[in-house]
Amino acid sequence: MATAKTEKRWQIKLDDSVQYLKGIGPERAKALRSVGIETIEDLLYYIPRRYLDRSTILPISEVKVGSTSTVVGRVAAFGMARTKRPQFQVILKDKTGFIRLLWFSKLRWVKNLFEENDLVVASGQVTLYRGLQMIHPEFEIISKKSDGEITNGELIHTGRVIPLYPSTAELKKVRLDSRGFRRVLKLLLDDVPSVLKETLPPELIVDLKLLPLQEAIRKIHFPDDMKSAKEAKARLAFDELFYMELMLALRKKRVHREEGIAFHKPGSLVRKLLEMLPFQLTEAQRRVLKEISADMTSKVSMHRLLQGDVGSGKTIVALLAMLMAVDSGYQCALMAPTEILAEQHFITIHQMLESLKMRVDLLTSSLSKSERRGVLQRIKNGDTRVVIGTHALIQEKVEFFKLGLVVIDEQHRFGVMQRARLKQKGGSPDVLVMTATPIPRSLALTVYGDLDVSVIDALPPGRKPVKTSIFTDSSRSKVYEFLEKELDKGHQAYIVYPLVEESEKADLKAATESYRFLKEEIFPHRRVALLHGRIKSREREKIMQAFRNREYDLLVATTVIEVGVDVPNATVMVIEHAERFGLSQLHQLRGRIGRGTDQSFCLLVANPPLSQESEKRLKAMSLTNDGFKISEIDLKLRGPGEFFGTRQHGLPELKIADIIADHKLLYQARNWAFKIIQEDPGLTQRNNLCIRSTFVRRYKKRFSLAKIG
Ligand code: ADP
Ligand code: MG
Repeated sequence: MATAKTEKRWQIKLDDSVQYLKGIGPERAKALRSVGIETIEDLLYYIPRRYLDRSTILPISEVKVGSTSTVVGRVAAFGMARTKRPQFQVILKDKTGFIRLLWFSKLRWVKNLFEENDLVVASGQVTLYRGLQMIHPEFEIISKKSDGEITNGELIHTGRVIPLYPSTAELKKVRLDSRGFRRVLKLLLDDVPSVLKETLPPELIVDLKLLPLQEAIRKIHFPDDMKSAKEAKARLAFDELFYMELMLALRKKRVHREEGIAFHKPGSLVRKLLEMLPFQLTEAQRRVLKEISADMTSKVSMHRLLQGDVGSGKTIVALLAMLMAVDSGYQCALMAPTEILAEQHFITIHQMLESLKMRVDLLTSSLSKSERRGVLQRIKNGDTRVVIGTHALIQEKVEFFKLGLVVIDEQHRFGVMQRARLKQKGGSPDVLVMTATPIPRSLALTVYGDLDVSVIDALPPGRKPVKTSIFTDSSRSKVYEFLEKELDKGHQAYIVYPLVEESEKADLKAATESYRFLKEEIFPHRRVALLHGRIKSREREKIMQAFRNREYDLLVATTVIEVGVDVPNATVMVIEHAERFGLSQLHQLRGRIGRGTDQSFCLLVANPPLSQESEKRLKAMSLTNDGFKISEIDLKLRGPGEFFGTRQHGLPELKIADIIADHKLLYQARNWAFKIIQEDPGLTQRNNLCIRSTFVRRYKKRFSLAKIG
């Protein structure tokens, strides 16, 4: 079938390859492009979503009524049934008996799929009604009579393990369902693997007992048994993880080559602030501060991730690092994801630095023109040493006098790009990234592989774990009674309503109406305030300040208070529509309380019926206060893509590997990648040439991303 035997053939675009590739014409090439398959290589890496293992298939006579089973049989008869409600049925037969497959909907589609004698696999719950039946089963037509000729007589559709491929409506239109893919791939695999070049060096393959690439590609599509399918998948997953880690290793290497600023040892400002603090740093804080100061005093520029649960005291650590930069004659910038948080940081830091006679400026997009001009001026001429802001900080017009340190709070909301842009504001400032969505250290090392990781793993002493309980709409009066009791003690409370972009208007309305209701009907004798993102920032600042000064008892708010707000006298957090919040969001909100020494309470009000996911989230909240555990559960529930916002981190999207399930492979991949880059940073050694070419090829598109960090 092939004529041009170039090594690069497998990178040929499918639309150019019509003449080479049996089974793919222009129409199919177009449909394939819609799912991101552009080259022959892409097609080879289009891996089955699962396999049908014939050993798990039951003879029809052995299926049990009520159980979920998989059967394989030939179509003995099919057609619309003459019943009141239109239905379509297919009678499947194997050597042992018959079973009816039944459809009540999608009739027009399903009606035209079957022919007599088609080999069909069906899975579903078995019920009994005048014989065995499955209603709306999951099914696949494994083969049709017409398949025979094209596949060289080989029974690709009826082997022991049958691959099932993901497909879309568009693909199905050009008959690229599982069957179609099996045929195309069979043809392709008969020819192409001989030119598919190995992507991993031989010693690595031997050491980790991995399958060679060609074999893995062949077996992932047509495995002899489930064991070899698994081996093939592991090899390809490793491959994917290895190249991700390689990118991180290269980034880190480059960062470490960057000449950074060698700051002086902590000086008088740091000392004065420490003396002023009403508390002692915890041991965890001190340890982390040491790690940071070691980075800062060295010539290598710092790229450190500071992990710590909500309330663990990251802000003070960051502030001390900032003062270290100022002590050495530099400026520093603290960037926060929301205006509210930036304002919060500004207020706390401003208060702390006031007695040190230091100027702090706040730069957000809600400054007036003249205020803004003033701030920009002071940043430029160096009058301001400590600047706090939102992403307004990374706008073109902001020029720093001498930027030395950038602190980024709650980094999961900032993209790599934004990080990079802020960095460009100064020669090569040190970077400290803080996150309150902590993940286990080992995982953090691998996922944020280009950053060093510090962890504050203990809360300040005297904190009592927040008690969390779940309420429903109908037990709302209990919630109010409880609030009443706590307010009587002189404590303050939050009531939070969800606000999401899609339903912002309705959400705002709900929050505002509830505020009125609470203020007028339930708590007329209390001082109640309302806070949401649409309120002007100056007004917002006033409200927060008043709440902090105990001029309000109750703060009704939308999620604007999710991060950073710090009022130790607030001991109750009521979260309305808790079922609508994500797990880490709930944890963040709960982190607003339990900041003083009094017992705090989190009341989750959810309105049934709840989805399973929501139920799991709420349950997790009531079971643990540990942010690391919460993150792990969240990661499991949402999957790594969602959880990490992979795209946002500039990490490649993983198609085959799963960071959690394949964590062993991940650690191996990391070790090898970092070792190889350590020994041969240019990837010029003979054994590593295959890595170099694969890396360049795979990441050509994202190479610019790999350059920053
Ligand atoms: P987060 O890590 O969530 O940003 P913060 O930095 O806001 O936490 O700190 C939470 C609260 O704990 C603040 O009120 C802060 O002043 C206080 N705090 C920080 N460190 C200590 C400490 N070592 N001892 C007592 N309180 C502390
Ligand atoms: Mg914080």
